[in-house]
Amino acid sequence: MNAPMNRRQFFRICAAGIGSSSLVVLGLAPSVAHAEMRAYKLDRATETRNTCAYCSVGCGILMYSTGDKAKNVKAEVFHIEGDADHPVNRGTLCPKGAALLDMMKSPSRLKRPEVRRPGSDQWEPIEWEQAIEEIAKQMKADRDANFIAKNAEGQTVNRWLSTGMLAASAGSNETGYLTQKIVRSLGMIAIDNQARV
Ligand code: SF4
Repeated sequence: MNAPMNRRQFFRICAAGIGSSSLVVLGLAPSVAHAEMRAYKLDRATETRNTCAYCSVGCGILMYSTGDKAKNVKAEVFHIEGDADHPVNRGTLCPKGAALLDMMKSPSRLKRPEVRRPGSDQWEPIEWEQAIEEIAKQMKADRDANFIAKNAEGQTVNRWLSTGMLAASAGSNETGYLTQKIVRSLGMIAIDNQARV
């Protein structure tokens, strides 16, 4: 049977207990750990679905950005992973796709259209609206000047051979279908895809 402790012994044990629990709270006692759930890193992130921009496989991705779109919160993408619900990749990504965050944050990434005017050695940034308008005007001018309605034998050919199109590889089947419709309806023959570049 244990001998009863006196008053001095009681205070000594209490002081030791308080001291050791304080060290644990301060993280200075690694042999003792408090059980705690680690916060999920995607908590309160905004999830956005997109398509990998690299190749023609067109894998689906989930992009997670900081903030919940609240006022004064600056959204910034901090994590990208494969979309498990996407029929193409079912959550997987190849090494290029897995490194998409680096591409997105690269200081040399082009974020707006640029044009190099005839005779210039400089690329000039322009707005999207201006770029689309200028492309449309130049396509019309070139088509008006070079469209071939009939060949030398008088057969109808409706060809436009002086302009070509390089289409994006990360589009859907529907985008590819519409691209072909637009290009062929103009008589354009030369069309290729970034998937082959
Ligand atoms: S993750 Fe890889 S395979 Fe999929 S679209 Fe991107 S580059 Fe292509």
